[in-house]
Amino acid sequence: MSAPVLPAGLHAFERGWLSANNILFTDGEETVLVDSGYCTHSVQTLALIESVLGSRPLDVLVNTHLHSDHCGGNAALQARYPDLQTLIPPGHAQQVAEWDPVALTYLPTGQLCPQFGFTQVIEPGHLIRFGSATWQAHAAPGHDPNSLIFFEPQDKLLISADALWENGFGVVFPELEGTDAFAEVAATLDLIEHLEPKTVIPGHGRVFAYTPDILVRARQRLESFASNPRRHARHAAKVLLKFKLLETQRQDFDEFAQWAISTPYFTQIKAKFFADCPVRAWIEELSAELITAGVAKRDGAYILNA
Ligand SMILES: [Zn+2]
Repeated sequence: MSAPVLPAGLHAFERGWLSANNILFTDGEETVLVDSGYCTHSVQTLALIESVLGSRPLDVLVNTHLHSDHCGGNAALQARYPDLQTLIPPGHAQQVAEWDPVALTYLPTGQLCPQFGFTQVIEPGHLIRFGSATWQAHAAPGHDPNSLIFFEPQDKLLISADALWENGFGVVFPELEGTDAFAEVAATLDLIEHLEPKTVIPGHGRVFAYTPDILVRARQRLESFASNPRRHARHAAKVLLKFKLLETQRQDFDEFAQWAISTPYFTQIKAKFFADCPVRAWIEELSAELITAGVAKRDGAYILNA
């Protein structure tokens, strides 16, 4: 299938998995960017934006949700564009204002996110101008309780964040913290089905043409997790390990294992789902599975991203 054609003035930058995709709108009065990537990639993020904007400033920055791979470039963008307005979902606005890296999950997940501020919140149900079109903001809980997705009904475009990817969706974080959220994932998939998008710009991976079997696959994946939450927890722990490898690229294995052992999310996932296994052995087992899957490598004392 050929890649979907996006309207002129909408630039979707497909990034790797460490940084979420960035979506830049240039055909309106104000330039708008949706999501800013991970902080260690912010030089590249700025370069991508400047390659399109030239000397024109970025006016508005919007975050679908506040995971470090979606808002890690906010601080760099705010420094580069001093008049930038930053719009975030309302759920964690207070925690951003007070800068609480625990509530914002950066400390518990062992991820990095430089402090940023915001100008306004975007309420779900409201309309927002991106470029020359009007987009709907929808609540999309599941992967993140406060996430928004954006829909443009004229061209049937969906900015789906981590609620829907071409193959599945992001880790269901509340489940790891003991809050039921698989049903919210299902409701968000129902919402997307109801919106009937034609083209989806996901948080990660390439832009894709929406077909019903994409939802069939996502629902199958959800069912396999909901019927076996340990499978989901194991998957989540591996995603967090892989995320760290994407950030560090190459790390002494002992240091890597130590990072995981001292990162609260791992302790929490382990205590809740894998209490029977010694922690170091558990990290070794998960790392071995990443290597078998071809997404990590061992080189002597080191573990490498692959
Ligand atoms: Zn996310």
